[in-house]
Amino acid sequence: MKKKAMYFLLCVLLIALYLLCETEGWLVRELPDTQDKIAHSPNFDRATGRFKNIEATTELFSIENGDKEKRSTARIMYELFLNPDKPKSVPVVSGSLKTAPDTDFVLWYGHSSYLLHLGGKNILIDPLLDNEAASPVPFINTPFKGTGVFSLDDIPQTIDLLLITHDHYDHLGKKTLKKIAKNKSVRHIITPLGVGKYLKHYGFSQDIIHQTDWGDSTKIDDIFSVDTHTARHFSGRGMFNKNKSLWASYVLHYGDKKIFIGGDSGYGKHFQQIGEQYGKMDWAFLENGQYDAGWREIHAFPEQTLSAALDLKTAVLFPVHNSKYKISYHAWDTPMKDLWAIHQKNP
Ligand SMILES: [Zn+2]
Ligand SMILES: [Zn+2]
Repeated sequence: MKKKAMYFLLCVLLIALYLLCETEGWLVRELPDTQDKIAHSPNFDRATGRFKNIEATTELFSIENGDKEKRSTARIMYELFLNPDKPKSVPVVSGSLKTAPDTDFVLWYGHSSYLLHLGGKNILIDPLLDNEAASPVPFINTPFKGTGVFSLDDIPQTIDLLLITHDHYDHLGKKTLKKIAKNKSVRHIITPLGVGKYLKHYGFSQDIIHQTDWGDSTKIDDIFSVDTHTARHFSGRGMFNKNKSLWASYVLHYGDKKIFIGGDSGYGKHFQQIGEQYGKMDWAFLENGQYDAGWREIHAFPEQTLSAALDLKTAVLFPVHNSKYKISYHAWDTPMKDLWAIHQKNP
């Protein structure tokens, strides 16, 4: 009983602190031309005023999790927000863009932040650098020790395309994006509907922000274009704006190559549909981490990550959403170890 009361008190304190620090979720107003697009989106439920998944999706299951005790919401918040059992350190290989090869390459900054250097162009996805916490509160959900080594110097001066998959704190990094808006030259930004207002608020010109719906295509130039697709997830940047903006995956066309940028997604029928639509992918960046039976429909287990890769018929799978933040109960390296073990059994 004492323990329960402690978790409850901590939960109340955390929520109060969160609300104190998180104001942009309800203070940043929708851009005028976006309101209309959102209202007419087939993925927006006008009755509830929120976006919805294609498949019926439960975000949080109340369950007995194996032999572990049933977790209260307060305990989930304590364990995930304050991360009492974070790893002491994580091995990181860092390098410098100055010594990067003059070829196509991928630079993974950890979790779901990465840079694609393709045909001399720089495409940056969901950047969180410089030890930015995946939370509105600077000391909650901080990166694992050693993983904050990448800074603004580790992204190019010119970013041809900035892709944001959704507004969650581990993907839309306010601190990093404000620095990019101030110090770098960004040519185009693609976001799902309703996310653009934050980018404008961080200092980017509205002229370069393309807010897209599932099914939209955006031509960047003769070599690059981006198709926006569904994901099975949710959104929210505060306690009061759940699913007010859209979440997405993308197919990046680079010449005749196709690269799937998965964002966050639970396993669903959409992977097979996208796989059938495109025939095959050359690369797929898919989430592999932060899963749990309690939220099994909005994040994928390693076996589902592999199933999604097979559905997409990708030649190469690059698993992300791991090794930097602890937003679930598994150890930091379990997603990679399990995915590799499953792959070895089914090569
Ligand atoms: Zn998310
Ligand atoms: Zn995420």
